[in-house]
Amino acid sequence: MTGPQLAIVGAGPAGFYVADALCRKLPECHIALIDRLPTPFGLVRGGVAPDHQGTKNITRQFERTLTRGNVRFFGNVELGRDIGYEELKRAFDVVVLCTGAPVDRRLDVPGESLPGVYGSGVFVSWYNGMPDQRELNPLLDGAAVAVIGNGNVAIDIVRLLCKSPAELAVSDICEHVLARLSAARPREVYLIGRRGPLEASFTAPELEELGSLADAAPALNPALLPAEVPADWPEARRKDAEKNLGILRRFAAAPASSKPVQLRLLFNAAPSAIMGSERVAGLRLERTRLEGSRTLPTGVHFDIAVGTVVTAIGYRSAPLPGVPFDDSWGVIPNAGGRVLDPATHEPLVGQYTAGWIKRGPTGVIGTNKPDAAETVENMLADARAGHVLSPTQPTAAAAQALVCERQPQVVTYADWQRLDALELSRGKEQGRPRIKFTRVEDMLAALRD
Ligand code: NAP
Repeated sequence: MTGPQLAIVGAGPAGFYVADALCRKLPECHIALIDRLPTPFGLVRGGVAPDHQGTKNITRQFERTLTRGNVRFFGNVELGRDIGYEELKRAFDVVVLCTGAPVDRRLDVPGESLPGVYGSGVFVSWYNGMPDQRELNPLLDGAAVAVIGNGNVAIDIVRLLCKSPAELAVSDICEHVLARLSAARPREVYLIGRRGPLEASFTAPELEELGSLADAAPALNPALLPAEVPADWPEARRKDAEKNLGILRRFAAAPASSKPVQLRLLFNAAPSAIMGSERVAGLRLERTRLEGSRTLPTGVHFDIAVGTVVTAIGYRSAPLPGVPFDDSWGVIPNAGGRVLDPATHEPLVGQYTAGWIKRGPTGVIGTNKPDAAETVENMLADARAGHVLSPTQPTAAAAQALVCERQPQVVTYADWQRLDALELSRGKEQGRPRIKFTRVEDMLAALRD
């Protein structure tokens, strides 16, 4: 294919890695990188913890992709709201869907809809200043908070809840969130895993960070720590578990802390109910035991008094209007990134996917690179075989003009650079990395000014 016109929907890590792979393999292509938000970078901006500034440096690499003459950013353009999937397929040779997994998985226990229960997607979006959750105003009033899950997202949330205002101030956590967390710091924070310490999916560097907080020290019952990691586990898994176990042993052996926030690590405790009438008042947990890798209930319950519950138990993708969706797996049905017809299971011409909406919510930012490469390889093989859409828009410029027609308030890369500079300079004034815009209308107003 020569000079093909492509639309990538979703300007997060997956979308950028697809764009980058395409530019390398097919330098003559023209890419419209479309995002529903005026800001690029997806989870790097809205998901990565605000105190993990180093992780966000990947945006420099993504910016280089945006400076290529053949890649254009179209922010503030939402598939379904501003432009339809059929329209995109008519205008472009290829459409690639990279919209991630923004929906929180549900616990499915009684009390889950009480005020004071938040999914991690919602909670993390709030503290990262994503416009959708700007007004969340979570119930945090100094009482205990339970964070359910033993992944890195749960660790991020626990760490931010435990950090002192001074520690938070050097992050790019949003101003209104900083004010809220400083005024209503929980006295107790629980990190709760339904399986044992060896089965946790958090990684050692993230766990280790919990040991160096100014105002909180992790506490756990040493009797719950296994003597060793089973020798027959695959080597990589065994090494990860050994690292975590070593850190947990150190935490457990430390003298009792007099720091103001109690950080309690509970294992083998599965949530069975969230209690309360008007709002969350407690969490009921059931002791579990492991048989091989299976978690079995024991019938032994215990309660903890908490005022807030945050579930960090994984995500699902949201169906996109007009796009095939596998509801049971929460992803777009695909084979190596080729979108499949749900009825025939045959690849649909010119339609691809990458990232979490392709494979589910696993892996770190860099995991999206090989994932995107696979999609692009398959796309190029299909193109060589002549399997592309036949766009009615004769040129990339015409196809991209259609996007601007559908959303006249499109935000370009130059616009983003202005927003970025404003955020950085507002941050500099206060000795902080950046002060984000958190409302779409404020971003658009700043650009008009
Ligand atoms: P995750 O690693 O899959 O962890 C999900 C956790 O939720 C697991 O501990 C799981 O326990 C638990 N869980 C699931 N259903 C549950 C239920 N019904 N009741 C109680 N617990 C339940 O997912 P994540 O933390 O959302 O992270 C997503 C991906 O982003 C991961 O690949 C992660 O490494 C990555 N990430 C990386 C970083 C970083 O590198 N710093 C930061 C954030 C996220 P079971 O194991 O028992 O199912």
